[in-house]
Amino acid sequence: MRPLVKTKTLQRATFGWALVLLGVANAAAGTPPDSPKTSFVVVIDAGHGGKDSGALGPSGTQEKTVVLDIARRLNNYLLHEAGIHPVMVRHHDLYVSLSERAKLARRVHADLFISLHADAYEEPAARGSSVYTLSDHGASSEAARTLADRENAGEVGGVDLRSEDAVLAGVLVDLSKNASLEASDVAATKMLKALREHLKVHHDTVQKAGFKVLKSVDVPSMLIETGFISNPDEARALTDPKQQDNIARALLRGIKAYAHR
Ligand SMILES: [Zn+2]
Repeated sequence: MRPLVKTKTLQRATFGWALVLLGVANAAAGTPPDSPKTSFVVVIDAGHGGKDSGALGPSGTQEKTVVLDIARRLNNYLLHEAGIHPVMVRHHDLYVSLSERAKLARRVHADLFISLHADAYEEPAARGSSVYTLSDHGASSEAARTLADRENAGEVGGVDLRSEDAVLAGVLVDLSKNASLEASDVAATKMLKALREHLKVHHDTVQKAGFKVLKSVDVPSMLIETGFISNPDEARALTDPKQQDNIARALLRGIKAYAHR
């Protein structure tokens, strides 16, 4: 037992998070206070892949394929942006579990995690893109799960939960959760604005849901439904390189608006 070391580690981490919450520390709610970064890391998560096709369009268009095309275009644009470093979850038609996607975001100390999807609905006329963030309910369930699993947990906000007592660990998870939920809302609002400027949106406001892939606790995250693959017109548009490019450029503007705020 080394109580002194533990206390210092906790004080440093808690202080760092307090700065983030006060808006004093820079941008990234997911950045540990002791490791300043020079670039803004965006994880681009093309939804589904491999054995998981995602939703299917009326003529068989697969969600996993169109979102990968859009993700690649977005990645190419971001590679040319100074100060922004994109990381793709998958470059190919590959199955990646939801928890592996979130783990990657933590591993690369992501400042933003964007999961790309295409919507499906029984009403074929439904159209437009939507932006989602994690609901408080979803986040708190995940925080509870994280605590229960802390024997196997890695680091959350720079603090190794395995070495701390449960109450303190709970406080730290709450701190980082609230910071990332707030940052997620800021990022998602900017993204929705960027999408609305050039594309049709399905919802005028940021939506909330308990998507598992967003439950990464300490990384600001959003899920974007790029359009309705169940709508014949939009399914066609989602496979059109020109429309894919329009979407990628709108996403780029949304990311830049958040990264350079
Ligand atoms: Zn999907």
